Amino acid sequence: MKVIVGKNCGFCFGVKRAIKCAEQLPGKGNYILGEIIHNERVNNSLKEKGLITIDSLDDDRLSKGDTLLIRTHGEPKSTFNKASEMELNVVDCTCPFVKDIQEKVSKYHSLGYTIAILGNENHPEIIGINGWCDNSAIIVSSFEDLSKIKAEKLCIVVQTTFSEKKFDEIIKKFDTSNIKTVDIFKTICYTTIERQKEAEIISKNCDAVIVLGGSNSNNTEKLFEICKKNCKNIFRVVDPLDFNYDLIKNFYKVGIVFGASTPYSQFQEVVQGMEKVTEEIITTETVVSEDLAKKDTVSEAVAKEEKKSFKSEMEAAFNNIKPSKDYRIGQIVSARISSANEAGLIHSAALL
Ligand code: SF4
Repeated sequence: MKVIVGKNCGFCFGVKRAIKCAEQLPGKGNYILGEIIHNERVNNSLKEKGLITIDSLDDDRLSKGDTLLIRTHGEPKSTFNKASEMELNVVDCTCPFVKDIQEKVSKYHSLGYTIAILGNENHPEIIGINGWCDNSAIIVSSFEDLSKIKAEKLCIVVQTTFSEKKFDEIIKKFDTSNIKTVDIFKTICYTTIERQKEAEIISKNCDAVIVLGGSNSNNTEKLFEICKKNCKNIFRVVDPLDFNYDLIKNFYKVGIVFGASTPYSQFQEVVQGMEKVTEEIITTETVVSEDLAKKDTVSEAVAKEEKKSFKSEMEAAFNNIKPSKDYRIGQIVSARISSANEAGLIHSAALL
């Protein structure tokens, strides 16, 4: 059996940095607004480390000095204002691609433009972006709705996980002759574009495809739709440990497509699941779309750039966290080692 996988499998860089940040939060009193990612097992493991998910800043458990992590989807400006009034220590993990859209709508709104967002109006990313232009944006998802907008000056942005194909089709048909000024920003994130192109190639070349990702993950849903158009045997899998691998044992070429919040470790779980139902040797092949293979991808370049700024943001955020009253740097304490391997200690926690 042959397994085909895209080059962009595993967490996208936005998710990777948010998870890393959550894992590094010290001590107690760490909260996150909404689920950090659409992956139950990852969320549960962070919960075990003490990260508490809340639905709103009105949660009674929050108190002054607590740490509030903002997830990759971002939040409206009002959330940041309220967190500051409540004297919370905000660690902002909004993905730089989302942040860029927030800055664009904020700027164009202040210049008097009508803001149109192509995307899903109920998605937290869109709710967050709208909150940077006083909730004035017109949110549309089709060409028909976009063409109904009457404005003198129009700024169009698009949800990071929107289908590139659909966006191009809508914009191509969109008649701008009655609008004085139109600024269109294709703000789909490059990770999304790359994954969608890989999903297209994989689904056209495989007998069956497993699409891995959370049931409420928008980007996974888009990948699923792409695959469905090209292949009859598509399996939408939330957790590889729950999948019935007998369903795919008779296929020769099986593709695996990853949502952006699915860890790479789950790819190995799928392969292990396949090994249990077939005697055949499983070989793997990685797919990368031709145009993207030629260049150092934009996402890699953005990731490199943003790594520098994120490090300083994180340092600043952690610097604001007040030291514990009970412990001081250099103090000798007894602790229980919770985990270790040949390389040394993995976690030393639980002070005795
Ligand atoms: S999918 Fe793109 S926009 Fe969303 S978190 Fe990942 S890198 Fe950022």
